[in-house]
Amino acid sequence: MGEYFDRRADRRWQRQMRKRLKHLEREYGPIEMYGAPPRRRRWRETGPVLPGLAIALGLTAVVMVMNPGATGYRVRDLIDTINGRDDGAYTFLATERGSSMPVGWSPCEPITYVVNPEGAPADHEDLVADAIELLEEESEFEFDDGGETDDRTFTLGAREPGDPVLIGWATPDEVPALRGDTIGVGGSSTAPRQGRPRFVTGSVALDGPAYRTMARQGDGDQQRLVLVHELVHVLGLDHVDDRDQLMYPQYIGQDGLGEGDRAGLAELHELPC
Ligand SMILES: [Zn+2]
Repeated sequence: MGEYFDRRADRRWQRQMRKRLKHLEREYGPIEMYGAPPRRRRWRETGPVLPGLAIALGLTAVVMVMNPGATGYRVRDLIDTINGRDDGAYTFLATERGSSMPVGWSPCEPITYVVNPEGAPADHEDLVADAIELLEEESEFEFDDGGETDDRTFTLGAREPGDPVLIGWATPDEVPALRGDTIGVGGSSTAPRQGRPRFVTGSVALDGPAYRTMARQGDGDQQRLVLVHELVHVLGLDHVDDRDQLMYPQYIGQDGLGEGDRAGLAELHELPC
């Protein structure tokens, strides 16, 4: 027990240090670190996949338009976009009308998230922290931990612009999109900001029973990467046909983001503030 908490405190400390370092680097340029090389994840062709849980990551990528009249905006057709880019693949959930400019979050402020622990697996604090940390390491986006909530408004259209991104666990009864093999859904809503559509809130609903099963089986990678996949939807990437990317619509043993995922996130982070 003691070891468990020590490990958690240690990871929290490491996260804080990495965050501070990132801020320092932004001001002073790259800083050399000795003895702490960045973790690099290697790709596997195949990997351990939870039997029976085919894990369609779900058609998840739900994007809501809060004010379609005022924002030139369209949701790309998945069929349209998964063709053509075979390596380094990525595709955006939404682009501005009449242009290839993706819709995304303002890259200049951190994205606040809150976690509803109801129905979560026992290790959910580490799980969420690790997923956020991986995403921060692999992209330029920054997240702010807004703490726990009892909010269960997963429906994007019911979330208010500026509400934090909600992460929680649900059943298919509560979130019908989790029916069948789907174990996660994630997406964001737009509202006009400075004359262009912006993501202004979002949600991720994870399949509570499936997560508790994975937790019992000790499959931490899968739990974490499914959450990362959904959070990448929240940031604005859609599914791709390339099995090496985490944005492939199924978890097939990917052990992190792929080149295409990273390239897409980098493009989203280059949007104007
Ligand atoms: Zn997905």
